[in-house]
Amino acid sequence: MVFDFNEKELFDVIIIGEGIAGLATAYYLPDKLKVLVLSKASQDISNTWMAQGGIAASISKFDSPESHFNDTVAAGDGLCDETVVRVVVQEGRERIVEMIQLGVPFERIDDEFSLAREGGHSFARILHYGDQTGKAIASTLKSYLVSNRRVKFLEGFFFEQIIKSNGKAAGITGYFLDNNKRFTFLAPNVVIATGGACHIYKSTTNPFTATGDGIAAGFRAGAYISDMEFVQFHPTVLKDERSPMLLITEAARGMGARLLTPEKEPFMEGYHIMEDLAPRFVVVRRMAELMLDKGYDYFLLDMRHFSDEDVKNISFIASELRKRGYDLKNDLIPVIPAAHYFIGGLKTDLYGRTNVPGIYACGEASCSGLHGANRLASNSLLEGLVFGKRIADSISASGLSGFKSAVKDLEITARPEFRGKCDDVFKEINVLKEKMDARAGIARVEEGLKEILSFIEKYYYDALEFCGTNKCESEFYNMVLISKWVVTMALNRKESRGVHLRLDYPQKNDDEFKFHQSIRRSYADN
Ligand SMILES: Cc1cc2nc3c(=O)[nH]c(=O)nc-3n(C[C@H](O)[C@H](O)[C@H](O)COP(=O)(O)OP(=O)(O)OC[C@H]3O[C@@H](n4cnc5c(N)ncnc54)[C@H](O)[C@@H]3O)c2cc1C
Repeated sequence: MVFDFNEKELFDVIIIGEGIAGLATAYYLPDKLKVLVLSKASQDISNTWMAQGGIAASISKFDSPESHFNDTVAAGDGLCDETVVRVVVQEGRERIVEMIQLGVPFERIDDEFSLAREGGHSFARILHYGDQTGKAIASTLKSYLVSNRRVKFLEGFFFEQIIKSNGKAAGITGYFLDNNKRFTFLAPNVVIATGGACHIYKSTTNPFTATGDGIAAGFRAGAYISDMEFVQFHPTVLKDERSPMLLITEAARGMGARLLTPEKEPFMEGYHIMEDLAPRFVVVRRMAELMLDKGYDYFLLDMRHFSDEDVKNISFIASELRKRGYDLKNDLIPVIPAAHYFIGGLKTDLYGRTNVPGIYACGEASCSGLHGANRLASNSLLEGLVFGKRIADSISASGLSGFKSAVKDLEITARPEFRGKCDDVFKEINVLKEKMDARAGIARVEEGLKEILSFIEKYYYDALEFCGTNKCESEFYNMVLISKWVVTMALNRKESRGVHLRLDYPQKNDDEFKFHQSIRRSYADN
Protein backbone atom coordinates (compact mmCIF):
# COMPACT_ATOMS: atom_id res chain seq x y z
CA MET A 1 0.00 0.00 0.00
CA VAL A 2 1.50 3.35 -1.02
CA PHE A 3 0.23 6.64 0.34
CA ASP A 4 2.33 9.60 -0.56
CA PHE A 5 0.08 12.15 1.17
CA ASN A 6 0.53 13.17 4.75
CA GLU A 7 -2.82 12.11 6.08
CA LYS A 8 -5.88 10.10 5.28
CA GLU A 9 -9.24 9.70 6.86
CA LEU A 10 -12.10 7.28 6.34
CA PHE A 11 -15.74 8.38 5.78
CA ASP A 12 -18.94 6.65 4.68
CA VAL A 13 -19.87 9.44 2.28
CA ILE A 14 -17.89 12.34 0.85
CA ILE A 15 -19.99 15.11 -0.67
CA ILE A 16 -18.16 17.67 -2.74
CA GLY A 17 -19.98 21.00 -2.78
CA GLU A 18 -22.20 22.87 -0.36
CA GLY A 19 -24.78 24.26 -2.74
CA ILE A 20 -28.32 22.93 -2.61
CA ALA A 21 -27.31 19.58 -4.14
CA GLY A 22 -24.62 18.83 -1.56
CA LEU A 23 -26.57 20.16 1.42
CA ALA A 24 -29.78 18.34 0.49
CA THR A 25 -27.89 15.05 0.11
CA ALA A 26 -26.29 15.56 3.54
CA TYR A 27 -29.65 16.48 5.06
CA TYR A 28 -31.39 13.32 3.86
CA LEU A 29 -28.55 10.93 4.82
CA PRO A 30 -29.04 9.08 8.11
CA ASP A 31 -27.07 10.58 11.00
CA LYS A 32 -25.36 7.27 11.76
CA LEU A 33 -23.20 7.70 8.64
CA LYS A 34 -19.90 9.53 8.80
CA VAL A 35 -20.29 12.32 6.26
CA LEU A 36 -17.82 14.91 5.01
CA VAL A 37 -18.99 17.92 2.98
CA LEU A 38 -16.16 19.83 1.41
CA SER A 39 -16.04 22.91 -0.70
CA LYS A 40 -13.42 25.04 -2.41
CA ALA A 41 -15.12 28.31 -1.45
CA SER A 42 -17.28 29.62 1.36
CA GLN A 43 -21.00 28.87 1.23
CA ASP A 44 -21.93 32.31 -0.07
CA ILE A 45 -19.95 31.73 -3.26
CA SER A 46 -22.06 29.24 -5.16
CA ASN A 47 -24.78 29.30 -7.77
CA THR A 48 -27.24 28.27 -5.08
CA TRP A 49 -26.50 31.32 -2.95
CA MET A 50 -27.15 33.56 -5.95
CA ALA A 51 -30.42 31.91 -7.00
CA GLN A 52 -32.94 34.71 -7.09
CA GLY A 53 -36.33 33.86 -8.58
CA GLY A 54 -37.20 30.80 -6.54
CA ILE A 55 -38.11 27.17 -6.66
CA ALA A 56 -40.91 25.74 -8.78
CA ALA A 57 -43.57 23.41 -7.35
CA SER A 58 -47.23 22.94 -8.15
CA ILE A 59 -48.51 23.66 -4.65
CA SER A 60 -51.34 26.04 -5.57
CA LYS A 61 -54.85 24.59 -5.61
CA PHE A 62 -55.24 25.85 -9.19
CA ASP A 63 -52.08 24.10 -10.33
CA SER A 64 -51.12 20.42 -10.76
CA PRO A 65 -48.01 18.25 -11.19
CA GLU A 66 -49.39 17.42 -14.65
CA SER A 67 -49.22 21.07 -15.67
CA HIS A 68 -45.69 21.43 -14.23
CA PHE A 69 -44.76 18.24 -16.13
CA ASN A 70 -46.17 19.62 -19.39
CA ASP A 71 -44.36 22.96 -19.04
CA THR A 72 -41.04 21.24 -18.24
CA VAL A 73 -41.34 18.90 -21.22
CA ALA A 74 -42.40 21.72 -23.57
CA ALA A 75 -39.41 23.84 -22.49
CA GLY A 76 -37.07 20.82 -22.92
CA ASP A 77 -37.76 20.83 -26.68
CA GLY A 78 -38.05 17.08 -27.22
CA LEU A 79 -35.17 15.83 -25.08
CA CYS A 80 -36.51 15.61 -21.49
CA ASP A 81 -36.47 12.19 -19.87
CA GLU A 82 -40.17 12.05 -19.05
CA THR A 83 -39.75 9.51 -16.23
CA VAL A 84 -37.34 11.88 -14.50
CA VAL A 85 -39.63 14.86 -15.06
CA ARG A 86 -42.55 12.96 -13.52
CA VAL A 87 -40.47 12.02 -10.46
CA VAL A 88 -39.26 15.59 -9.95
CA VAL A 89 -42.65 17.31 -10.27
CA GLN A 90 -44.31 14.74 -7.97
CA GLU A 91 -41.63 14.36 -5.29
CA GLY A 92 -40.73 18.04 -5.53
CA ARG A 93 -43.93 18.94 -3.73
CA GLU A 94 -43.02 16.67 -0.79
CA ARG A 95 -39.49 18.08 -0.60
CA ILE A 96 -40.89 21.62 -0.55
CA VAL A 97 -43.17 20.74 2.37
CA GLU A 98 -40.12 19.37 4.22
CA MET A 99 -38.20 22.59 3.57
CA ILE A 100 -41.13 24.63 4.88
CA GLN A 101 -41.21 22.44 8.02
CA LEU A 102 -37.46 22.94 8.40
CA GLY A 103 -38.03 26.69 8.47
CA VAL A 104 -37.26 28.03 4.99
CA PRO A 105 -39.06 31.39 5.09
CA PHE A 106 -40.87 31.33 1.72
CA GLU A 107 -42.89 34.52 1.33
CA ARG A 108 -46.57 34.48 2.20
CA ILE A 109 -49.46 36.83 1.64
CA ASP A 110 -51.84 36.31 4.54
CA ASP A 111 -52.00 32.52 4.92
CA GLU A 112 -51.12 31.67 1.33
CA PHE A 113 -47.65 31.32 -0.18
CA SER A 114 -46.83 34.15 -2.54
CA LEU A 115 -46.23 32.41 -5.87
CA ALA A 116 -44.42 34.12 -8.74
CA ARG A 117 -44.65 33.30 -12.42
CA GLU A 118 -41.64 32.87 -14.70
CA GLY A 119 -41.01 32.21 -18.39
CA GLY A 120 -42.45 28.97 -19.77
CA HIS A 121 -44.68 28.32 -16.72
CA SER A 122 -48.46 28.17 -17.26
CA PHE A 123 -49.12 29.07 -13.63
CA ALA A 124 -47.65 31.16 -10.85
CA ARG A 125 -45.80 28.34 -9.05
CA ILE A 126 -42.48 29.80 -7.93
CA LEU A 127 -41.97 29.87 -4.16
CA HIS A 128 -39.47 32.51 -3.21
CA TYR A 129 -37.85 34.50 -0.48
CA GLY A 130 -37.71 37.97 -2.04
CA ASP A 131 -35.06 37.62 -4.74
CA GLN A 132 -32.68 35.64 -2.50
CA THR A 133 -34.33 32.24 -2.44
CA GLY A 134 -31.20 30.13 -2.88
CA LYS A 135 -29.53 31.82 0.06
CA ALA A 136 -32.62 31.26 2.23
CA ILE A 137 -32.75 27.52 1.48
CA ALA A 138 -28.99 26.90 1.70
CA SER A 139 -28.50 28.82 4.94
CA THR A 140 -31.47 27.04 6.57
CA LEU A 141 -30.13 23.63 5.54
CA LYS A 142 -26.59 24.38 6.63
CA SER A 143 -27.53 25.81 10.03
CA TYR A 144 -29.69 22.75 10.67
CA LEU A 145 -26.84 20.40 9.73
CA VAL A 146 -24.28 22.29 11.80
CA SER A 147 -26.50 22.39 14.89
CA ASN A 148 -28.14 18.98 14.72
CA ARG A 149 -25.96 16.56 12.81
CA ARG A 150 -22.48 15.08 12.93
CA VAL A 151 -21.75 16.10 9.34
CA LYS A 152 -18.23 17.52 9.04
CA PHE A 153 -17.79 20.62 6.86
CA LEU A 154 -14.49 21.62 5.30
CA GLU A 155 -14.24 24.85 3.29
CA GLY A 156 -11.20 26.04 1.33
CA PHE A 157 -10.35 22.54 0.08
CA PHE A 158 -9.88 21.93 -3.64
CA PHE A 159 -11.11 18.53 -4.79
CA GLU A 160 -8.99 17.35 -7.69
CA GLN A 161 -9.62 13.68 -8.42
CA ILE A 162 -11.54 10.57 -7.49
CA ILE A 163 -9.68 7.53 -6.23
CA LYS A 164 -10.96 4.15 -7.35
CA SER A 165 -10.31 0.65 -6.09
CA ASN A 166 -11.40 -2.40 -8.12
CA GLY A 167 -13.46 -0.15 -10.38
CA LYS A 168 -15.39 1.44 -7.50
CA ALA A 169 -15.14 4.82 -5.81
CA ALA A 170 -12.77 4.74 -2.86
CA GLY A 171 -12.28 8.41 -2.02
CA ILE A 172 -10.88 11.67 -3.27
CA THR A 173 -7.68 13.67 -3.34
CA GLY A 174 -7.22 17.40 -3.21
CA TYR A 175 -5.45 20.20 -1.42
CA PHE A 176 -6.04 23.00 1.05
CA LEU A 177 -6.12 26.29 -0.76
CA ASP A 178 -4.32 28.26 1.95
CA ASN A 179 -1.16 26.13 1.98
CA ASN A 180 -1.48 23.73 -1.01
CA LYS A 181 -1.15 20.81 1.45
CA ARG A 182 -2.44 17.59 -0.08
CA PHE A 183 -4.95 15.33 1.58
CA THR A 184 -6.67 12.06 0.81
CA PHE A 185 -10.12 11.31 2.16
CA LEU A 186 -11.42 7.78 1.74
CA ALA A 187 -15.05 6.70 1.37
CA PRO A 188 -16.99 4.14 -0.68
CA ASN A 189 -19.48 6.82 -1.76
CA VAL A 190 -18.51 10.08 -3.45
CA VAL A 191 -21.23 12.57 -4.32
CA ILE A 192 -20.21 15.16 -6.89
CA ALA A 193 -22.24 18.28 -6.18
CA THR A 194 -19.76 20.78 -7.57
CA GLY A 195 -22.21 22.74 -9.70
CA GLY A 196 -21.92 23.72 -13.34
CA ALA A 197 -19.27 25.02 -15.70
CA CYS A 198 -20.49 28.34 -17.09
CA HIS A 199 -17.10 29.89 -16.34
CA ILE A 200 -15.90 28.45 -19.60
CA TYR A 201 -17.54 31.65 -20.88
CA LYS A 202 -16.43 35.21 -20.15
CA SER A 203 -20.00 36.54 -19.99
CA THR A 204 -21.64 34.60 -17.19
CA THR A 205 -23.89 35.07 -14.20
CA ASN A 206 -22.07 32.31 -12.30
CA PRO A 207 -19.58 32.89 -9.48
CA PHE A 208 -15.97 31.75 -9.98
CA THR A 209 -16.64 28.33 -8.47
CA ALA A 210 -18.43 27.16 -11.64
CA THR A 211 -15.43 25.76 -13.51
CA GLY A 212 -16.76 22.23 -14.02
CA ASP A 213 -14.23 20.60 -11.65
CA GLY A 214 -16.51 17.74 -10.59
CA ILE A 215 -17.72 16.99 -14.11
CA ALA A 216 -14.11 16.84 -15.32
CA ALA A 217 -12.99 14.67 -12.37
CA GLY A 218 -15.89 12.28 -12.91
CA PHE A 219 -15.04 12.01 -16.60
CA ARG A 220 -11.39 11.27 -15.80
CA ALA A 221 -12.62 8.54 -13.46
CA GLY A 222 -14.61 6.87 -16.24
CA ALA A 223 -18.11 8.32 -15.77
CA TYR A 224 -20.24 9.24 -18.77
CA ILE A 225 -20.88 12.91 -19.52
CA SER A 226 -23.97 13.86 -21.54
CA ASP A 227 -25.67 16.75 -23.34
CA MET A 228 -22.66 19.04 -23.05
CA GLU A 229 -23.71 21.17 -26.03
CA PHE A 230 -26.70 22.53 -24.11
CA VAL A 231 -25.66 25.66 -22.22
CA GLN A 232 -28.48 27.95 -21.19
CA PHE A 233 -27.96 31.68 -21.70
CA HIS A 234 -30.16 34.01 -19.66
CA PRO A 235 -31.60 36.91 -21.67
CA THR A 236 -31.64 39.57 -18.96
CA VAL A 237 -28.18 40.06 -17.52
CA LEU A 238 -26.96 43.59 -16.81
CA LYS A 239 -24.47 44.71 -19.47
CA ASP A 240 -21.50 45.36 -17.24
CA GLU A 241 -17.79 44.56 -16.99
CA ARG A 242 -18.03 42.98 -13.51
CA SER A 243 -17.80 39.25 -12.87
CA PRO A 244 -20.07 37.52 -12.06
CA MET A 245 -22.54 39.59 -14.04
CA LEU A 246 -25.76 40.70 -12.36
CA LEU A 247 -28.77 38.62 -13.30
CA ILE A 248 -32.16 40.28 -13.44
CA THR A 249 -34.52 37.51 -12.51
CA GLU A 250 -37.16 36.26 -14.91
CA ALA A 251 -39.66 36.98 -12.15
CA ALA A 252 -39.23 40.65 -13.18
CA ARG A 253 -40.81 39.79 -16.54
CA GLY A 254 -43.40 37.77 -14.61
CA MET A 255 -44.28 41.07 -12.91
CA GLY A 256 -44.59 42.85 -16.28
CA ALA A 257 -41.08 44.03 -17.19
CA ARG A 258 -40.82 44.60 -20.98
CA LEU A 259 -37.99 43.75 -23.33
CA LEU A 260 -37.09 46.48 -25.81
CA THR A 261 -34.56 47.04 -28.58
CA PRO A 262 -32.04 49.89 -28.16
CA GLU A 263 -34.61 51.92 -30.22
CA LYS A 264 -37.11 51.19 -27.44
CA GLU A 265 -39.28 48.89 -29.59
CA PRO A 266 -40.78 45.73 -28.04
CA PHE A 267 -39.38 42.69 -29.88
CA MET A 268 -41.20 39.63 -28.55
CA GLU A 269 -44.70 40.58 -29.73
CA GLY A 270 -45.76 38.34 -32.60
CA TYR A 271 -42.68 36.15 -32.14
CA HIS A 272 -44.03 33.80 -29.47
CA ILE A 273 -47.45 33.37 -27.95
CA MET A 274 -46.08 34.09 -24.44
CA GLU A 275 -44.34 37.25 -25.75
CA ASP A 276 -41.88 38.60 -23.13
CA LEU A 277 -42.54 35.55 -20.96
CA ALA A 278 -41.55 33.03 -23.63
CA PRO A 279 -39.03 30.34 -22.53
CA ARG A 280 -35.50 31.67 -22.19
CA PHE A 281 -34.06 30.04 -25.27
CA VAL A 282 -36.79 31.58 -27.43
CA VAL A 283 -36.01 35.07 -26.12
CA VAL A 284 -32.26 34.51 -26.54
CA ARG A 285 -32.77 33.25 -30.09
CA ARG A 286 -34.72 36.38 -30.96
CA MET A 287 -31.94 38.48 -29.45
CA ALA A 288 -29.31 36.56 -31.46
CA GLU A 289 -31.28 37.20 -34.68
CA LEU A 290 -31.54 40.91 -33.92
CA MET A 291 -27.85 41.13 -33.01
CA LEU A 292 -26.96 39.63 -36.39
CA ASP A 293 -29.54 41.55 -38.45
CA LYS A 294 -29.33 44.94 -36.81
CA GLY A 295 -25.94 44.87 -35.12
CA TYR A 296 -27.37 45.46 -31.63
CA ASP A 297 -24.99 44.70 -28.80
CA TYR A 298 -27.47 45.19 -25.98
CA PHE A 299 -31.22 45.38 -25.26
CA LEU A 300 -33.27 47.26 -22.71
CA LEU A 301 -35.42 46.04 -19.84
CA ASP A 302 -38.23 48.37 -18.85
CA MET A 303 -39.35 48.13 -15.21
CA ARG A 304 -40.17 51.82 -14.82
CA HIS A 305 -43.85 51.11 -14.21
CA PHE A 306 -43.16 48.79 -11.23
CA SER A 307 -45.09 49.48 -8.03
CA ASP A 308 -43.27 49.80 -4.70
CA GLU A 309 -44.51 46.28 -3.89
CA ASP A 310 -42.95 44.95 -7.13
CA VAL A 311 -39.64 46.65 -6.28
CA LYS A 312 -39.77 45.11 -2.80
CA ASN A 313 -39.98 41.67 -4.41
CA ILE A 314 -36.68 42.27 -6.18
CA SER A 315 -35.04 44.42 -3.54
CA PHE A 316 -31.63 42.73 -3.86
CA ILE A 317 -31.55 43.42 -7.61
CA ALA A 318 -32.84 46.98 -7.12
CA SER A 319 -30.08 47.69 -4.63
CA GLU A 320 -27.36 46.08 -6.80
CA LEU A 321 -28.58 48.19 -9.74
CA ARG A 322 -28.46 51.30 -7.58
CA LYS A 323 -24.82 50.54 -6.67
CA ARG A 324 -24.10 50.47 -10.41
CA GLY A 325 -25.86 53.79 -11.05
CA TYR A 326 -29.32 52.62 -12.23
CA ASP A 327 -32.67 53.42 -10.67
CA LEU A 328 -35.09 50.86 -12.05
CA LYS A 329 -38.10 53.17 -11.62
CA ASN A 330 -36.48 55.83 -13.78
CA ASP A 331 -33.96 54.11 -16.03
CA LEU A 332 -34.16 51.57 -18.80
CA ILE A 333 -31.72 48.81 -17.89
CA PRO A 334 -29.23 47.63 -20.56
CA VAL A 335 -29.16 43.83 -20.73
CA ILE A 336 -27.42 41.12 -22.76
CA PRO A 337 -27.66 37.32 -22.76
CA ALA A 338 -24.98 35.56 -20.65
CA ALA A 339 -24.11 31.94 -19.83
CA HIS A 340 -26.26 30.95 -16.90
CA TYR A 341 -26.95 27.24 -16.51
CA PHE A 342 -24.97 24.17 -17.57
CA ILE A 343 -27.49 21.55 -18.69
CA GLY A 344 -24.94 18.83 -19.49
CA GLY A 345 -22.87 17.01 -16.92
CA LEU A 346 -22.30 13.60 -15.39
CA LYS A 347 -24.95 11.25 -16.68
CA THR A 348 -27.02 9.88 -13.83
CA ASP A 349 -29.90 7.46 -13.35
CA LEU A 350 -33.03 7.91 -11.24
CA TYR A 351 -30.94 7.56 -8.06
CA GLY A 352 -28.22 10.00 -9.04
CA ARG A 353 -25.82 7.11 -9.79
CA THR A 354 -23.22 7.42 -12.53
CA ASN A 355 -21.98 4.32 -14.35
CA VAL A 356 -19.02 4.07 -11.91
CA PRO A 357 -20.11 2.28 -8.72
CA GLY A 358 -19.96 4.61 -5.73
CA ILE A 359 -19.80 7.83 -7.78
CA TYR A 360 -23.00 9.88 -7.63
CA ALA A 361 -23.72 13.28 -9.11
CA CYS A 362 -26.35 15.77 -8.00
CA GLY A 363 -27.53 19.24 -9.06
CA GLU A 364 -25.93 21.21 -11.84
CA ALA A 365 -22.91 18.85 -12.07
CA SER A 366 -25.27 16.06 -13.09
CA CYS A 367 -27.23 15.42 -16.25
CA SER A 368 -30.33 13.65 -14.97
CA GLY A 369 -32.41 14.22 -18.11
CA LEU A 370 -34.81 16.62 -16.34
CA HIS A 371 -34.01 19.65 -18.46
CA GLY A 372 -33.75 18.14 -21.93
CA ALA A 373 -32.44 20.74 -24.35
CA ASN A 374 -33.57 23.72 -22.27
CA ARG A 375 -34.12 24.09 -18.52
CA LEU A 376 -37.45 25.47 -17.36
CA ALA A 377 -36.91 28.41 -14.98
CA SER A 378 -36.66 27.53 -11.26
CA ASN A 379 -36.50 23.78 -11.84
CA SER A 380 -32.85 23.45 -10.85
CA LEU A 381 -33.10 24.14 -7.12
CA LEU A 382 -35.94 21.61 -7.14
CA GLU A 383 -33.78 19.04 -8.95
CA GLY A 384 -31.09 19.40 -6.26
CA LEU A 385 -33.61 18.72 -3.49
CA VAL A 386 -35.30 15.77 -5.18
CA PHE A 387 -32.09 14.04 -6.25
CA GLY A 388 -30.33 14.83 -2.95
CA LYS A 389 -33.02 12.73 -1.24
CA ARG A 390 -32.85 9.98 -3.87
CA ILE A 391 -29.05 9.74 -3.60
CA ALA A 392 -29.26 9.62 0.20
CA ASP A 393 -31.84 6.81 -0.02
CA SER A 394 -29.71 4.90 -2.51
CA ILE A 395 -26.58 5.17 -0.33
CA SER A 396 -28.53 4.13 2.79
CA ALA A 397 -29.91 1.11 0.96
CA SER A 398 -26.60 0.04 -0.56
CA GLY A 399 -24.88 -0.96 2.70
CA LEU A 400 -21.32 0.02 3.47
CA SER A 401 -19.68 -3.22 4.53
CA GLY A 402 -16.31 -4.42 3.25
CA PHE A 403 -14.92 -0.99 2.42
CA LYS A 404 -12.17 -0.94 5.03
CA SER A 405 -10.63 -4.16 3.76
CA ALA A 406 -10.83 -2.99 0.12
CA VAL A 407 -8.88 0.14 1.02
CA LYS A 408 -5.77 -1.79 1.93
CA ASP A 409 -4.98 -2.52 -1.74
CA LEU A 410 -5.26 1.09 -2.70
CA GLU A 411 -2.38 2.72 -4.46
CA ILE A 412 -2.21 6.44 -5.02
CA THR A 413 0.56 7.87 -7.11
CA ALA A 414 2.26 11.18 -6.51
CA ARG A 415 1.18 14.25 -8.43
CA PRO A 416 3.81 16.30 -10.21
CA GLU A 417 4.83 19.68 -8.86
CA PHE A 418 3.08 22.81 -10.12
CA ARG A 419 4.55 23.59 -13.52
CA GLY A 420 3.11 26.89 -14.69
CA LYS A 421 2.90 30.46 -13.43
CA CYS A 422 -0.66 31.50 -12.59
CA ASP A 423 -0.30 34.74 -14.58
CA ASP A 424 0.38 32.71 -17.72
CA VAL A 425 -2.47 30.34 -16.96
CA PHE A 426 -4.89 33.26 -16.46
CA LYS A 427 -3.97 34.59 -19.89
CA GLU A 428 -4.83 31.23 -21.43
CA ILE A 429 -8.07 31.05 -19.43
CA ASN A 430 -9.10 34.43 -20.86
CA VAL A 431 -8.28 33.37 -24.41
CA LEU A 432 -10.39 30.24 -23.94
CA LYS A 433 -13.34 32.16 -22.48
CA GLU A 434 -13.31 34.81 -25.18
CA LYS A 435 -13.23 32.15 -27.87
CA MET A 436 -16.08 30.25 -26.20
CA ASP A 437 -18.19 33.45 -26.02
CA ALA A 438 -17.55 34.29 -29.66
CA ARG A 439 -17.69 30.83 -31.24
CA ALA A 440 -19.61 28.49 -28.94
CA GLY A 441 -22.00 30.96 -27.28
CA ILE A 442 -25.58 31.85 -28.16
CA ALA A 443 -25.14 31.27 -31.91
CA ARG A 444 -22.82 28.69 -33.41
CA VAL A 445 -21.51 27.73 -36.86
CA GLU A 446 -19.23 24.90 -37.95
CA GLU A 447 -16.25 27.06 -38.87
CA GLY A 448 -16.15 28.87 -35.51
CA LEU A 449 -16.54 25.67 -33.52
CA LYS A 450 -13.67 24.05 -35.43
CA GLU A 451 -11.49 27.08 -34.78
CA ILE A 452 -11.84 26.74 -30.98
CA LEU A 453 -11.16 23.03 -31.14
CA SER A 454 -7.68 23.68 -32.47
CA PHE A 455 -6.94 25.93 -29.44
CA ILE A 456 -8.35 23.36 -27.05
CA GLU A 457 -6.46 20.44 -28.62
CA LYS A 458 -3.21 22.15 -27.61
CA TYR A 459 -4.01 21.46 -23.96
CA TYR A 460 -6.53 18.64 -24.08
CA TYR A 461 -4.14 15.73 -23.65
CA ASP A 462 -2.67 17.37 -20.52
CA ALA A 463 -6.18 18.12 -19.28
CA LEU A 464 -7.16 14.49 -19.63
CA GLU A 465 -4.15 13.00 -17.92
CA PHE A 466 -3.15 15.72 -15.53
CA CYS A 467 -5.56 17.58 -13.33
CA GLY A 468 -3.22 20.33 -12.17
CA THR A 469 -1.30 20.94 -8.99
CA ASN A 470 -2.59 24.35 -8.09
CA LYS A 471 -6.06 25.94 -8.21
CA CYS A 472 -5.51 28.12 -11.28
CA GLU A 473 -3.95 25.28 -13.23
CA SER A 474 -6.51 22.68 -12.09
CA GLU A 475 -9.41 24.93 -13.06
CA PHE A 476 -7.85 25.69 -16.41
CA TYR A 477 -7.46 22.00 -17.27
CA ASN A 478 -11.00 21.33 -16.10
CA MET A 479 -12.36 24.15 -18.26
CA VAL A 480 -10.36 22.89 -21.26
CA LEU A 481 -11.79 19.40 -20.78
CA ILE A 482 -15.35 20.68 -20.47
CA SER A 483 -14.99 23.09 -23.41
CA LYS A 484 -13.67 20.29 -25.60
CA TRP A 485 -16.88 18.31 -25.13
CA VAL A 486 -19.19 21.33 -25.37
CA VAL A 487 -17.64 22.21 -28.72
CA THR A 488 -17.43 18.62 -30.00
CA MET A 489 -21.06 17.86 -29.17
CA ALA A 490 -22.13 21.24 -30.59
CA LEU A 491 -20.32 20.39 -33.83
CA ASN A 492 -22.00 16.98 -34.03
CA ARG A 493 -25.50 18.38 -33.45
CA LYS A 494 -26.27 19.74 -36.91
CA GLU A 495 -29.64 21.21 -36.01
CA SER A 496 -31.05 23.92 -33.69
CA ARG A 497 -32.83 22.65 -30.62
CA GLY A 498 -33.51 24.23 -27.24
CA VAL A 499 -30.58 26.36 -26.17
CA HIS A 500 -28.37 25.02 -28.99
CA LEU A 501 -28.61 27.40 -31.95
CA ARG A 502 -26.70 26.49 -35.10
CA LEU A 503 -26.98 29.31 -37.62
CA ASP A 504 -25.91 26.90 -40.36
CA TYR A 505 -28.65 24.40 -39.37
CA PRO A 506 -31.47 26.65 -38.09
CA GLN A 507 -34.21 23.99 -37.98
CA LYS A 508 -34.91 21.28 -35.43
CA ASN A 509 -34.39 17.88 -37.05
CA ASP A 510 -36.17 15.15 -35.08
CA ASP A 511 -35.49 12.52 -37.75
CA GLU A 512 -31.75 12.67 -37.29
CA PHE A 513 -31.04 14.37 -33.97
CA LYS A 514 -33.67 13.49 -31.37
CA PHE A 515 -31.06 11.81 -29.18
CA HIS A 516 -28.61 12.52 -26.38
CA GLN A 517 -24.87 12.51 -26.86
CA SER A 518 -22.80 10.81 -24.15
CA ILE A 519 -19.13 9.97 -23.89
CA ARG A 520 -16.76 8.32 -21.41
CA ARG A 521 -13.09 7.47 -21.33
CA SER A 522 -12.98 3.94 -22.61
CA TYR A 523 -9.76 3.11 -20.78
CA ALA A 524 -10.77 4.31 -17.31
CA ASP A 525 -12.19 1.00 -16.14
CA ASN A 526 -9.87 0.15 -13.28
C1 LIG B 1 -27.54 34.30 -10.56
C2 LIG B 1 -28.25 32.97 -10.58
C3 LIG B 1 -29.61 32.90 -10.32
C4 LIG B 1 -30.29 31.68 -10.33
N1 LIG B 1 -31.61 31.65 -10.01
C5 LIG B 1 -32.23 30.44 -9.92
C6 LIG B 1 -33.56 30.35 -9.43
O1 LIG B 1 -34.18 31.34 -9.08
N2 LIG B 1 -34.13 29.11 -9.36
C7 LIG B 1 -33.47 27.97 -9.72
O2 LIG B 1 -34.03 26.87 -9.63
N3 LIG B 1 -32.19 28.05 -10.16
C8 LIG B 1 -31.56 29.23 -10.25
N4 LIG B 1 -30.26 29.28 -10.67
C9 LIG B 1 -29.55 28.02 -10.94
C10 LIG B 1 -29.28 27.33 -9.61
O3 LIG B 1 -28.89 28.30 -8.67
C11 LIG B 1 -28.18 26.28 -9.71
O4 LIG B 1 -28.40 25.44 -10.80
C12 LIG B 1 -28.13 25.44 -8.45
O5 LIG B 1 -28.09 26.26 -7.31
C13 LIG B 1 -26.90 24.55 -8.49
O6 LIG B 1 -26.72 23.99 -7.22
P1 LIG B 1 -25.53 22.99 -6.98
O7 LIG B 1 -25.59 22.60 -5.56
O8 LIG B 1 -25.55 21.94 -8.01
O9 LIG B 1 -24.20 23.85 -7.28
P2 LIG B 1 -23.65 25.18 -6.59
O10 LIG B 1 -24.68 25.88 -5.81
O11 LIG B 1 -22.96 25.97 -7.65
O12 LIG B 1 -22.57 24.64 -5.56
C14 LIG B 1 -21.35 24.09 -6.01
C15 LIG B 1 -20.47 23.81 -4.81
O13 LIG B 1 -19.35 23.02 -5.22
C16 LIG B 1 -18.15 23.56 -4.70
N5 LIG B 1 -17.05 23.18 -5.60
C17 LIG B 1 -16.98 23.36 -6.95
N6 LIG B 1 -15.80 22.86 -7.40
C18 LIG B 1 -15.13 22.37 -6.33
C19 LIG B 1 -13.85 21.76 -6.13
N7 LIG B 1 -12.99 21.52 -7.14
N8 LIG B 1 -13.47 21.39 -4.89
C20 LIG B 1 -14.30 21.62 -3.83
N9 LIG B 1 -15.51 22.21 -3.95
C21 LIG B 1 -15.93 22.57 -5.18
C22 LIG B 1 -18.42 25.05 -4.65
O14 LIG B 1 -17.52 25.69 -3.77
C23 LIG B 1 -19.89 25.04 -4.15
O15 LIG B 1 -19.91 24.85 -2.76
C24 LIG B 1 -29.56 30.50 -10.65
C25 LIG B 1 -28.20 30.56 -10.92
C26 LIG B 1 -27.54 31.78 -10.88
C27 LIG B 1 -26.06 31.82 -11.17
